Amino acid sequence: MTPDEQAKYVDDEKSYILSIREAARGQFSEDKRHWDKVLAKAVGLSSGADFLPLAKELKQQGGYWDQHWNINALAGWLRHAGRCVYCNKDLTACADVLYGQSCSDHLVPRFQNMNLENAPLNWVPACQWCNNIKSRHERRRRKESSGSNNSPA
Ligand SMILES: [Zn+2]
Repeated sequence: MTPDEQAKYVDDEKSYILSIREAARGQFSEDKRHWDKVLAKAVGLSSGADFLPLAKELKQQGGYWDQHWNINALAGWLRHAGRCVYCNKDLTACADVLYGQSCSDHLVPRFQNMNLENAPLNWVPACQWCNNIKSRHERRRRKESSGSNNSPA
């Protein structure tokens, strides 16, 4: 790849990516209003309550909340008021955080227990930074455990 080709590839991707980001920014206040409305109903619930009905209500609002959301992940977000469970960052504070720096984490990773893959309480909101740290930690542990399993007898 030449530098000119690289610049062309970047430009091709860049215009698409920036247009999606711009559209998301324009959508944020509406997404935030829907979130706040449903969260207001969630805050009174105990942590053991069923958050699925509220998650469904939020998903029905459309916009960001309807896109690529696993319903159990969304319930987890409501259960934890949209805050990273590790550092307490408010993931709905602004467009950049909500759309770009947040995710849903499998508390117990899939490789450790597939049965928990879609367990409602196994889905927690996390900021991208904490999730990256946790993922690296999990990969290391996984490598260590598979190394010991594969060691010759
Ligand atoms: Zn965090």
